[in-house]
Amino acid sequence: MAAACSSRESVTVRLSLPDEQPTPDADTPLPADPPIPHPAPPPDDEATALPSLDDEATALPDRVAAYRAGYLAEDRRLLEKALRSGTLMGLATTNALELGVDVSGLDAVLIAGWPGTRASLWQQAGRAGRDGQDALAVLIARDDPLDTYLVHHPEALFGRPVEAIVLDPDNPYVLGPHLCAAAAEIPLTHADLPIFGDTTQDVLTELVKDGLLRQRAAGWFWTHRERATNLADIRGGGGAPIQVVESATGRLLGTVDEASAHTSVHTGAIYLHQGETFLVEELDLDAGVALVGSAEPDYSTFARDITEISVLRSLRSTPLGPGTLHFGEVEVTRQVVSYLRRRVQSGELLGDEPLDLPPRTLRTRAVWWTLPSGPIADLAEEGVDLGGAAHAAEHASIGLLPLFATCDRWDIGGVSTELHADTGLLTVFVYDGHEGGAGIAERGYARASDWLTATREAIASCECERGCPSCIQSPKCGNGNEPLSKSGALRLLDTLLRPHSQP
Ligand SMILES: [Zn+2]
Ligand SMILES: [Zn+2]
Repeated sequence: MAAACSSRESVTVRLSLPDEQPTPDADTPLPADPPIPHPAPPPDDEATALPSLDDEATALPDRVAAYRAGYLAEDRRLLEKALRSGTLMGLATTNALELGVDVSGLDAVLIAGWPGTRASLWQQAGRAGRDGQDALAVLIARDDPLDTYLVHHPEALFGRPVEAIVLDPDNPYVLGPHLCAAAAEIPLTHADLPIFGDTTQDVLTELVKDGLLRQRAAGWFWTHRERATNLADIRGGGGAPIQVVESATGRLLGTVDEASAHTSVHTGAIYLHQGETFLVEELDLDAGVALVGSAEPDYSTFARDITEISVLRSLRSTPLGPGTLHFGEVEVTRQVVSYLRRRVQSGELLGDEPLDLPPRTLRTRAVWWTLPSGPIADLAEEGVDLGGAAHAAEHASIGLLPLFATCDRWDIGGVSTELHADTGLLTVFVYDGHEGGAGIAERGYARASDWLTATREAIASCECERGCPSCIQSPKCGNGNEPLSKSGALRLLDTLLRPHSQP
């Protein structure tokens, strides 16, 4: 059985208010025999004050608001203005407020969950306390393996420098647009090539073949009318954003990036905007529009998808205990196949509705490890649930990777299986969620022994008995956190990490 867990979310700085769309309940098993489903990620950077404030402090609900990048620019300017003037007392926000928005006079920042990097942590904490004033910054640990690890190891946070940025400049998806942009300024010559790295010649050949650059004796030229810089998408979201439009009025509510539209604004999805609830009447991918209507359902929706991974080629490999560690190119295929409706209050499952959406493929890089049949047979003999063990190890390792590679856990995904078609062995993959790979998996490969040792320690030190969201459960699990085996994961990682003497 394969398990897949992936996707991105970028909720980072915000007051400690619940998400507009709650994350799937990791503890609620899915109905029998799910087709390797995948609960939806919460919509990209969405957060707001929920009506719970109504009960606690009746004067407050109107004085807090939500803020994220997908809101219309004029709406965001109004929110920033209201916050500066004090009309708004608090903003539940994503990292959209981290950069480029000058808000002074804030007293406190509550960071809901480890934001992924020390750089982000300090940047978010620094939203309050401008101009020498005192301020309070609180990091509220989430039920998450890395947050748990950091609570036990504060030294990993304090007294350590901001981490190096992980970037793979040779990634053709990064390098291609950059070469076009460079050529648009001054045609590229042979003398320029070493500046851009070893893969430049190959990428240029592809760009010429695709008609993006033209090669002449003097070098490579950009001959298009459009600006070459339009090719580079600095947010890396891919595709044009989907516009969320209220069908009755034609009002544009905001946008959702194309990558998350399948999970957050599919037909039938519940979409929340500034505390208002909408039902998505139709998602038209060709037109780039999601039509929504005001609604007050007593349920929320969670998209589920199937993820498959295939190995294109292993670029590097090295022995790891009795097993083998690989770094290489993979193709990940995800398709949103249905969505669950759950009652808001109880989480009770109301239905599983099929969806007809095209698969999305991602060519990226992954780090993966395999164990040969000998040790696997020994573990099976001990009664270890191998599928549950590999799945639990995968979840926990995804949770810990951000400590070793500068990334958000939502930038990485994983697949684990007792028997993978391409390796013929028990295999755990952790892949980079960016097209072409952003260097995250490579960093995992380079630091695999430290990374997997910390993973083992995070599982072992968790006080739960059989696994919990702080260690092996994942809010993004493709299989509803089934099967999972905490004791099995420890045995599996012990086997993998034990010094191995070649016979
Ligand atoms: Zn636990
Ligand atoms: Zn999973």
